[in-house]
Amino acid sequence: MDVFKTHVGEGKALMINEENFYLATRERKPYVVDSGGVKSFYAVCPECDNPIQLIGLLRRQQDSLPHRPYGRHIGHDVPGVAVYDEDAYLSCPFSDPGYWRTDGKRKPSNPTGQALYRIMRDRFDRVEYAWRESSGLLLGIKSLRRALTVWRNDKGWLNYGSTYHNLPQMLFFGLPQETLYGQCVSKDSPLASRLAAADGIFLEPSGFSDSYLRIKTSRFVDVGFVLGARKARVVNDRLTETFLLGVNVEGKPLGSDLVVHTDPVWFSRILNMPDWHENHRLSAMAADVLG
Ligand SMILES: [Zn+2]
Repeated sequence: MDVFKTHVGEGKALMINEENFYLATRERKPYVVDSGGVKSFYAVCPECDNPIQLIGLLRRQQDSLPHRPYGRHIGHDVPGVAVYDEDAYLSCPFSDPGYWRTDGKRKPSNPTGQALYRIMRDRFDRVEYAWRESSGLLLGIKSLRRALTVWRNDKGWLNYGSTYHNLPQMLFFGLPQETLYGQCVSKDSPLASRLAAADGIFLEPSGFSDSYLRIKTSRFVDVGFVLGARKARVVNDRLTETFLLGVNVEGKPLGSDLVVHTDPVWFSRILNMPDWHENHRLSAMAADVLG
């Protein structure tokens, strides 16, 4: 993997490099263990909360090869850093990119599941922002509440397929079709161009922002979206996961599906941004549903 964090739970995911590791740990115990003059560097997997070891972290002057440090899971506890959990390891996208499992769920006591629950409850407006940025779709509070209620009833945080990087998308993954009528779409998104070109659908000013347009239909046209087809890959230690967003008009697909991307470092930064303008209306709704 090319990312790390220093604490189990909703900590910030950082790219693995010497500077980030130094700033996050000051290269002190328990993250650095010196045994007989050989230093080992430890941190936490940003996806499964297991201990990882960082390899090739320190640039050596004699190295002539391109330098790219990475992290790998280790199969034992690192005291003060993280406890090894084999079940979580087996379900980690970095251990197996085809990681979604139909069997088994996190235990209610699992620290990852508990942190995912807290993120949804306490930072739902940031989750919504990440969803909106990745899909182009600004959903009304009724649709958001509906999705969050399903997530609560299904105990989505115990699903091994839900992790720190894909929470915004997993909120809508596999849900029945949700209406697009009256919802808003980012003016510059591929979704907006797709809808604008469709027969019987038009986009009008949203009334609150120049960046968004409201989806209307000229007569009663049934238009909705579904999110499916998750695909995760790890290439050169980098995790990418995508979903497909399908738009249906009168039950028929409107062109090919649009790709929705996830980004572990970007989403983690949104979650941990200090100068965030909270959307109190969304926060109150999430507290009401998950409180
Ligand atoms: Zn992991």
